[in-house]
Amino acid sequence: MLHRGDSVAQNRAHRAGRPPTGPPIAVDNPASDAVVGEVPDMPAEEVVQAVQRARRAQKGWAELDTRARSEFFKRGRRWLLTHRQEIADLIVEENGKTEEDAIVEIVYCASAFAYWAKRARSLLATTRIRSLSPFLLGRDMYTRRAPRGVVGVIGPWNNPLLNSFGDAIPALAAGNAVVLKPSEQTPLTALLMERMTRECGWPEDVFQVVTGAGATGSAVVDSVDFVMFTGSTRTGRLVAARAGERLIPCSLELGGKDALVVLADASLERAVNVTIQGALSNGGQMCTSVERVYVEEPVYDAYITLLHERFQQVTSGRPAGLGSVDVGAVTFPPQLAVMADHVRDAVHKGARVLVGGKAVEGPGRFFPPTLLVNVDHGMTCMREETFGPTLPVMKVADAEEALRLVNDSTYGLQASIIGSDVKRARRLAERFEVGCVTINDAQTNHMALGLPMGGWKESGLGVRHGAEGFHTYTRLQAITTNRFPMRRDMHMIPYNPSAYRFILRLVDAMYCTGLRGRNR
Ligand code: NAD
Repeated sequence: MLHRGDSVAQNRAHRAGRPPTGPPIAVDNPASDAVVGEVPDMPAEEVVQAVQRARRAQKGWAELDTRARSEFFKRGRRWLLTHRQEIADLIVEENGKTEEDAIVEIVYCASAFAYWAKRARSLLATTRIRSLSPFLLGRDMYTRRAPRGVVGVIGPWNNPLLNSFGDAIPALAAGNAVVLKPSEQTPLTALLMERMTRECGWPEDVFQVVTGAGATGSAVVDSVDFVMFTGSTRTGRLVAARAGERLIPCSLELGGKDALVVLADASLERAVNVTIQGALSNGGQMCTSVERVYVEEPVYDAYITLLHERFQQVTSGRPAGLGSVDVGAVTFPPQLAVMADHVRDAVHKGARVLVGGKAVEGPGRFFPPTLLVNVDHGMTCMREETFGPTLPVMKVADAEEALRLVNDSTYGLQASIIGSDVKRARRLAERFEVGCVTINDAQTNHMALGLPMGGWKESGLGVRHGAEGFHTYTRLQAITTNRFPMRRDMHMIPYNPSAYRFILRLVDAMYCTGLRGRNR
């Protein structure tokens, strides 16, 4: 049983008259426990074949100019928007999130299609390089960017469209073919995107999906030219180690323990609304979720009173269309135990639960929005990624203490500051050891495709978005042309001592004594 978007590999296997190998992977609906589809658990051999097909398809794709590729993107964008309900329903079904959270993913991909189609041309343009060296007189130099070849995108389950297909878009815009390995927990949306490419008449095999668990992901790392990995820090290390053995580059977008700091001059209404959105959107299952809050003492009591009141108004449960609930289900079964452990450990060490605190009985997997106070850095909930709708809040004496605690983490993905004095907030932001900071906002930077997004410390290597994120999908080539070649240059073999004495005098004049023989 395949669901909605069927797998190309499955089709190929059927066409070849042989069944896919290995027992299939069942996909469940986290909000009901019902099995909603199943996909092949592809062995390495099938991944290798997909990469070989991608390699053949990539040649023609790279030869198209950016305008021609952007025509395919335009069709893809229209398809996304005309099929938005079908896509949203599928994301909700396999991930358990709310329809509103699914819409964010669709909007992201539609805007990514438009943005990268528009920017690819200038980002791939050649760059003329000037040299001040007299030894390079007459040389014309430039750099160009070539695609890497076949990019393997490996994605997590929390955003089945955005963190999987979303990263394929700039890779394709740069002229690569993409083999996407979505999470085994939520593979159906990726397969729907494969269907999109067929229905939009994209060149065959330029975008393919391979389904399976960790071993399939590992086979992707073993055969592609570049890996764009989004997932846990634990798996990221394995991917980096294997990529290192193969000497292929990789970009790693990993876990986080993102902090939000409320300064004493903050608008408390804004602070509370941003906190709730940052902590609870997508059920708190975002690498960029607000997972810990530090509040300056003078406003702590007022902030907690308002946050407590609003937390109680947040609804959670089985999503059933727009406006049904604010927080959906827990996608990945083991996460329920992680959330429960973090709460239990905090309470054992003296924390107080103001709202929520215990998993809700099934069917489906639910953990309610949970607010914790009296917390400190001796507790797991302040140090390890929870990835759920739980929020510990800590009182701090001042911004300096908040700064110390924000940086007291092995992670360094994102942080947020809420405060009226923007200059002061920026000065504080620049001392945070994280890759991205939002002031008076949380998570909004992820929608800013021109802005690089990447983690410091154990939150990752490299960035997505921005020129730097786009260029990660390219290889740089430097081309030097001697436009006025003479029969022989003075430095060439056979060596001539007077030529080298002249060169040394020239170097002295340029870098040491100056043209008139004086020290510079
Ligand atoms: P995960 O690391 O368990 O799995 C991610 C992907 O890697 C899956 O597709 C999985 O099948 C695959 N995989 C597993 N073992 C592999 C191996 N040895 N080689 C290659 N691939 C392998 O992560 P997850 O539980 O799916 O996702 C949640 C994590 O993702 C959280 O830590 C979250 O913070 C992180 N995340 C980060 C970002 C970001 O942009 N920084 C965005 C979303 C999620």
